[in-house]
Amino acid sequence: MDFPTFEPGSVWLVGAGPGDPGLLTLHAYHALQNADVIVHDALVDPRILALAGDGIALESMGKRGGKASPKQTEITTRLIELAKQGKRVLRLKGGDPFVFGRGPEEAEALVAEQINFRVVPGVTAGIAGLAYAGIPATAKATNSAVAFVTGHSETGEVPDSLDWDALARSAAVIVVYMPMAHLEGIREKFLAAGRSPDEAAAIVSKACTPDQAVLETTIGTCVEDAQKTAMKSPALLVVGEVVRLRQTLSWWTPS
Ligand code: SAH
Repeated sequence: MDFPTFEPGSVWLVGAGPGDPGLLTLHAYHALQNADVIVHDALVDPRILALAGDGIALESMGKRGGKASPKQTEITTRLIELAKQGKRVLRLKGGDPFVFGRGPEEAEALVAEQINFRVVPGVTAGIAGLAYAGIPATAKATNSAVAFVTGHSETGEVPDSLDWDALARSAAVIVVYMPMAHLEGIREKFLAAGRSPDEAAAIVSKACTPDQAVLETTIGTCVEDAQKTAMKSPALLVVGEVVRLRQTLSWWTPS
């Protein structure tokens, strides 16, 4: 297969998927072999970084909730600096770079500096994480729509910019990224919007990694159950009856 040329002085914004290196795209693998420098997020699995070709510099520049992390402007400044040095810059991000990942902001900064870039989509956690938990994103019997939302706004609150009532009415299955800091607030939003406390929900923690853990719960009990089982970030919350299919479709045991 012919791969696109990774030009010196360009930046590739690449999705690494949620963990399992087997979920990388061929374009991502090609970039891991041909970059001069890899600027990666904290979320990128170490097994993926281990696939980088010999002599490629690795720079960790991840944003990660709760821990000291570089400001977004520092990351974009670094990408621009490396590209202007004529490097082939691989910006490697967890999941998909254009799904809740600041990829668009980074791409805009590159455009402003007239730096060539390419986007390599990755498998987003909301798709792969559900699949590895045996939960389809859609199934004919349960839902013909699925919504991906963030549980965390710029200001660190449960996002008010979301119309939770409309969301709860229109999407039978809702996948919440970054839910853990505001699980209680998110539950309140769902209940206030008319979703039943008995409705099935799941929390999928560290999906597609050897530490994957899945909690089957309900909207009404998710907060207490997550505390009892010490579910850790990164994690997804998925609500909807489709979660019950896991009882039949669970297929993966991390090892
Ligand atoms: N661009 C990423 C999302 C970045 S936002 C993507 O497309 O997947 C970070 C959030 O993604 C986390 O808080 C969590 O909700 C989710 N996430 C990323 N990797 C995950 C994993 N391995 N398991 C569960 N959730 C994950």
